[in-house]
Amino acid sequence: LGGLARYPDGNGFELKQALSRKLGVGMDGIVLGNGSNDVLELAARSFLSPGLSAVYSEHAFAVYPLAVQAMGAEGIVVPARGYGHDLQAMAQAVRPDTRIVFIANPNNPTGTYVPGAELESFVAGLSREVLVVLDEAYNEYLRPEFRYDSIGWLKQYPNLVITRTFSKVYGLAGLRVGYALAAPGVADLMNRVRQPFNVNSLS
Ligand SMILES: *Cc1c(COP(=O)(O)O)cnc(C)c1O
Repeated sequence: LGGLARYPDGNGFELKQALSRKLGVGMDGIVLGNGSNDVLELAARSFLSPGLSAVYSEHAFAVYPLAVQAMGAEGIVVPARGYGHDLQAMAQAVRPDTRIVFIANPNNPTGTYVPGAELESFVAGLSREVLVVLDEAYNEYLRPEFRYDSIGWLKQYPNLVITRTFSKVYGLAGLRVGYALAAPGVADLMNRVRQPFNVNSLS
């Protein structure tokens, strides 16, 4: 509180260092955001524009269509299966102009879940030219038997972006802190379009 007269560290060094240690990822593969909503938008702003498209599921998180439409890109909504993601149909919905596929796992608001093995084979089967934004806002709630090593996949799939947040399991939604984990090149592009002080000192 005593330091609020100063601008925050625009690079979020201390938070990135703590996340880097906790998650075993390099600091150059982390993008901090004003909630993970912010990093979802940064992905859209980095990779979408008019004439391009993004794929997401019916009943998925409400921010995906907003972020896509704000860029003037086209949202391709894939009908849900049992209120959840139909990964096979989503893979088929990808077009040459598609740059992002958004997946919420577990999903909000429907609470559905895709097993890790199915997710990984989806990512593996997709063109490396298409970014997979895997929104894991509820990841920490998964029981041990449902866990999967998405962070480990980052090394293999440079087109994977994982988003997480302090809002849910840590009960800090009012502070607005989230982050994305990605290949350094992708994180760099996202960091170039974010506001320099998008995470404030208290957060
Ligand atoms: C809550 C939520 C978010 C974003 O939360 P932030 O508070 O912006 O970090 C993103 N995705 C899903 C699926 C959520 O439920």
